[in-house]
Amino acid sequence: MPSPLSNLVLADFFASRTWSLTRGGLIAAGVVFWLAIGFWTLKDARRRITNPWLIALATLVGLVPPFFGALVYMLFRPPEYLEEVRERELEIKAIEERLGAGRSECPVCQAEVEPSFLVCPVCTTRLKDACPTCRAPLEPIWQMCPHCETPVTRRPAIDLIEALESTLQVPPVQRPRTRRRPARQPPAE
Ligand SMILES: [Zn+2]
Ligand SMILES: [Zn+2]
Repeated sequence: MPSPLSNLVLADFFASRTWSLTRGGLIAAGVVFWLAIGFWTLKDARRRITNPWLIALATLVGLVPPFFGALVYMLFRPPEYLEEVRERELEIKAIEERLGAGRSECPVCQAEVEPSFLVCPVCTTRLKDACPTCRAPLEPIWQMCPHCETPVTRRPAIDLIEALESTLQVPPVQRPRTRRRPARQPPAE
């Protein structure tokens, strides 16, 4: 319990010039802090918002009610800086360009074709072969389908073998023999 003496001392203190100066100082510090928070809100809003009216509104919210308004602003402000949004957009653009570089064109009509196309949809030129098992488009240099592990047999290779076989099947020496045999047999019987 405060004694009458301490009450008197307290009353003296609050009546004193020291207290009035202290109180003035505290109020001034509070006002400076309040304005600083308002300025911070303005700066922060400018980094996050493009619309000048919304920036003004955010600053107003940051100032009124004092101190508490800034907390409200922090709860509702956009989560990202405009810089970050711009950077991300640039990154996405770069990725798209990188992907676009992989896009090819038809060797015949120069129409833009996607990597998954088997034929050019414009001029019907065959661009790639499909895997015989899973029908996935195969790149010309692939030796095996990466999707189903089917070994790739190239059409030119088959054509070459067929060509070789056809030449081997009809050698000029064998042809007369096969023709002569049936010719000889009927008179023998
Ligand atoms: Zn084409
Ligand atoms: Zn396959």
